[in-house]
Amino acid sequence: MSEDLREKLFDKKENGWKKVNDEEKKKIFEYAKGYMDFLNKAKTEREFVKHARELADKNGFKDIMEFNTLKPGDKVYFVNRNKSMYLAIIGTENIENGLHIIGSHVDSPRLDLKPNPLYEDTEMAYFKTHYYGGIKKYQWTTIPLSIHGTIVKTNGEKIDICIGEDENDPIFTITDLLPHLAQDQMEKKLKNGIDGEDLNLLIGSIPYEEKGKDQVKLNILNILNQKYGITEADLTSTEIELVPAFKARSLGLDESMVAGYGQDDKVCAYTSLSAMMELENVKNTAICILSDKEEIGSMGNTGMESHMFDFFISEILNKLEVNRPNLLDKVFCFSKMLSSDVDAGFDPIYASVSDKTNAGFLGKGISLNKYTGARGKSGASDANAEYVAWVRNVLEKNDISYQVAELGKVDVGGGGTIAYIIANKGADVIDCGVPVLSMHAPYEVTSKFDIYSAYKTYKAFWNE
Ligand code: MN
Ligand code: MN
Repeated sequence: MSEDLREKLFDKKENGWKKVNDEEKKKIFEYAKGYMDFLNKAKTEREFVKHARELADKNGFKDIMEFNTLKPGDKVYFVNRNKSMYLAIIGTENIENGLHIIGSHVDSPRLDLKPNPLYEDTEMAYFKTHYYGGIKKYQWTTIPLSIHGTIVKTNGEKIDICIGEDENDPIFTITDLLPHLAQDQMEKKLKNGIDGEDLNLLIGSIPYEEKGKDQVKLNILNILNQKYGITEADLTSTEIELVPAFKARSLGLDESMVAGYGQDDKVCAYTSLSAMMELENVKNTAICILSDKEEIGSMGNTGMESHMFDFFISEILNKLEVNRPNLLDKVFCFSKMLSSDVDAGFDPIYASVSDKTNAGFLGKGISLNKYTGARGKSGASDANAEYVAWVRNVLEKNDISYQVAELGKVDVGGGGTIAYIIANKGADVIDCGVPVLSMHAPYEVTSKFDIYSAYKTYKAFWNE
């Protein structure tokens, strides 16, 4: 008797794998393989945008600048300075009734080179770095790192570099102190164990000539000059990022999870992008945002705080030949958005930081965060109940597993996304993404079940 009632009334939040049959499991694993392949070639925001554009071109999308006018069914994109991208499929519904936006970010925590990076000390050459985003610095020592980025010369010539991903490439690393001599270091607080100024990348040790000052640095500059035709001063106009050199891999004896770098937030970027590639005939105009600079506050002209996104939507309104004063504001006020960013997955080893009844779990499906603020919901974009219900309805009628969670305990958690930026324009927004373990670490963990749930969620939202 009570069992029937329990079945009817409880929010069961079951492990999603329980309901997955063999055929479905095969689909989930195949999808995850495509995701891992993409992750391995798109470790930086520039690489992600480059490959996203290629994928979009293959699927009938075109640069919005190639259009004079737009009509329902048209597929367009705008690439913003090679680091962020907005895609759209024009819907059959009057655009004044709002957009259906899914927004993720394609930048991830990493180490950037300083503008004057190269130096030599005791006949070893190093690149100095300035870390990007919230990292635990000790995690970035003694792991293989690769060098990705873009060098721009004063004549405008651009050179893309990527060293350390091919098996035949060398890799790089940041050294740490041997335990034998680390008595003082081991007494320090974990956050001070490695100093930001000590995150220097070891890049060489052979002198150019027998005699003379800075011969190892000279040898490195000579190698760079022969390979790329650059001098030391050219390093000041580069964006070079150090990322883990290891590949995304299936994790576990049951291969149920994915371990990989940059899954925050490329897991949501990839799942939304791949869902958009399969859309046809949407009602509300579907928008996919791949933003940059989320990890450092969304500032600058490639971050969501800039007006570049407004510009893209205005271009659509212009080319639909419907634009008029304040229409952009109206469109945003009637829009709906999923801020597709990862959630902190509940980790039983560190259970004390989470409220178990309000945490996102690996393998239980897409995770909705009604708000992300902590300590009195400070700074939160709190989704309206009406909108949460609307999203739940979309998920339930499409039979998609979901959970509604908070990021950590009341006075512990927090973490921002781009949700508030679009909510401030007037749209209904909720955070909606994949739970991750070891978030912001060089190797992050997700569940293949949740990855596939995210893909299904984003597709269902746009098809609504
Ligand atoms: Mn994120
Ligand atoms: Mn993040």
